[in-house]
Amino acid sequence: MCGIVGYIGKRNSINIIFDGLKRLEYRGYDSAGVAVINDENEFNYYKKAGKVKELEKDFNGEILDGNIGIGHTRWATHGEPNDNNAHPHFDMNKHISVVHNGIIENFKTLKKKLTQEGYTFSTDTDTEVLANLIDFHCKTTHDFEKAVRYALTEVEGTYGLAMLCNTEPDKIIIARMGSPLMFGLGKDEIIVSSDAAAIIKHTKNVIYLEDGEMAILKRDGFQIKTINDVDIQREVQKIEYDLEQIEKGGFEHFMLKEICEQPDTIQNTYRGRINFETYDVKLGGLDSVREKLFNAKRIIITACGTAWHAGLVGEYMLEHYCRIPTEVEYASEFRYRNPIINKDDIVIVISQSGETADTRAAMKEAQRLGATVIGIVNAVGSTIAREVDCGTYIHAGPEIGVASTKAFTSQLMSLALITLMIGKHKGTIKEEEFKEIVDELKILPGKMKEIIGKMNEYKFVAEEFKDSLNFLYLGRGMNFPVALEGALKMKEISYIHAEGYPAAEMKHGPIALIDENMPVVFVAPKDDTYDKIVTNIEEIKARKGKIITISTDHDEEIKAYSDYTLSVPKTVDIFAPILNSIPLQFLSYYIASARGNNVDQPRNLAKSVTVE
Ligand code: GLU
Repeated sequence: MCGIVGYIGKRNSINIIFDGLKRLEYRGYDSAGVAVINDENEFNYYKKAGKVKELEKDFNGEILDGNIGIGHTRWATHGEPNDNNAHPHFDMNKHISVVHNGIIENFKTLKKKLTQEGYTFSTDTDTEVLANLIDFHCKTTHDFEKAVRYALTEVEGTYGLAMLCNTEPDKIIIARMGSPLMFGLGKDEIIVSSDAAAIIKHTKNVIYLEDGEMAILKRDGFQIKTINDVDIQREVQKIEYDLEQIEKGGFEHFMLKEICEQPDTIQNTYRGRINFETYDVKLGGLDSVREKLFNAKRIIITACGTAWHAGLVGEYMLEHYCRIPTEVEYASEFRYRNPIINKDDIVIVISQSGETADTRAAMKEAQRLGATVIGIVNAVGSTIAREVDCGTYIHAGPEIGVASTKAFTSQLMSLALITLMIGKHKGTIKEEEFKEIVDELKILPGKMKEIIGKMNEYKFVAEEFKDSLNFLYLGRGMNFPVALEGALKMKEISYIHAEGYPAAEMKHGPIALIDENMPVVFVAPKDDTYDKIVTNIEEIKARKGKIITISTDHDEEIKAYSDYTLSVPKTVDIFAPILNSIPLQFLSYYIASARGNNVDQPRNLAKSVTVE
């Protein structure tokens, strides 16, 4: 949640900050703001509710002078998303400026204390407290760095912070506790950012800050230390992707680009991990836990949102193909329900960004209880990726669209690879079936391309249903979570109310909703569940619901029951959720576009949820 940018160097900071904020906007877009220190050592700042573009418009070409500055794009937690609550925030004397990602949990206590000291507040945010608190400590220490340290020892909660002080205008101080923060080292300049997207245009050399650390950044160097003043040496890391991977490349939206990238991203997930000659699966990142995985008595998967849906598919995979009892938990619930975890348990955490606060908290709880924690993460070098016991990257490349698409299918592929590795070793997947699955992998990207090639069909169906008020998604077995994910995609970007259910559950309640205005999407591949799902379709048809089926190519029978069919090529069961998800992604994408919604930045949402 929320993107932070900072610049110190010889160039004018404002354009670099704006460019960075636009690239981080997927993290939050309630408001945007910038502050720079000018030649007279005063703060120049602009902040405004809405997107970075709105803020930029206000500038009317005016340039804010200053080669040191900070910027923020907000996902509000405390205080309405209006101009006044937009970051940067200042102390009442306009001496300190702060941008913040996270939540200051004890802000009320601190506010009370500062009010007694004569401080006044002009916003409803938790963040403003911090600016006043630093100023308060500056009064006694006359030292910006010390004041930051003293202030942070009083703070409870989470933060990624970039801070300026106009009496020490030669430095940015940054600090981290729970919210991601890194800085890039250019020539005579340093760029601060919540993630690599705002840095990559300028340099690929970056340093990640860890929790409990701060850094003092100057034009000619930097110093990292703990908040308790212990010096830290940290290696420079290389960003692994290129600028074009985070640009739209001719597509109207990032989401559309990312849907269309899936034949490639899925290959990136399994490349080098499957030997098509010897039929071996090797996940290097899991080498250290192979035996534990093979002997696991129980696996717990924990994640949020789309990744939680991937986890549900994983549960079906691991139980069916490996015969390992598997449970899936919402990461946001996990640590609050006193979970029963044994030392032999394997906990798999799934997170696209590797920064999801709830998932990280669940990971820590599982580690505290002694479980082995495996990560399935997309963002290389992210916090969860660094903190898990071991893990496997999905290698889907940067995902910018707030509604996750390619990361979901790659998470499914990673779970399938883990399943194959365990199932082969344990012999719970018979050799013939194993070979069939591995052979299928070679042609899976081609099948995904075929599905993507049918865009006009999805557009046509979307046009028919763009004004619907509700949608129901139904599926069985491994395709039940696909239905959940389809419904989530629809809600996220079209704002149409949508629900997913196991198809047979419908008659236990939701069927009451069916009338001639209710579109019902059935995920109905030709597998063992087919006959049963056809019965469920008939039950809806009898009540005049509008039926859209995601069927298997050449299934003529199902057409008779459906108002619309969107078919995908036949594949082995374990990969069916991957193929079936694609038409659902397109359906929500085209409906949201037809409704004129901002597909990449749906209202109220942000991509990387770094607050609990
Ligand atoms: N808690 C701060 C606010 O509401 C920062 C939220 C964020 O991370 O964007 O302004």
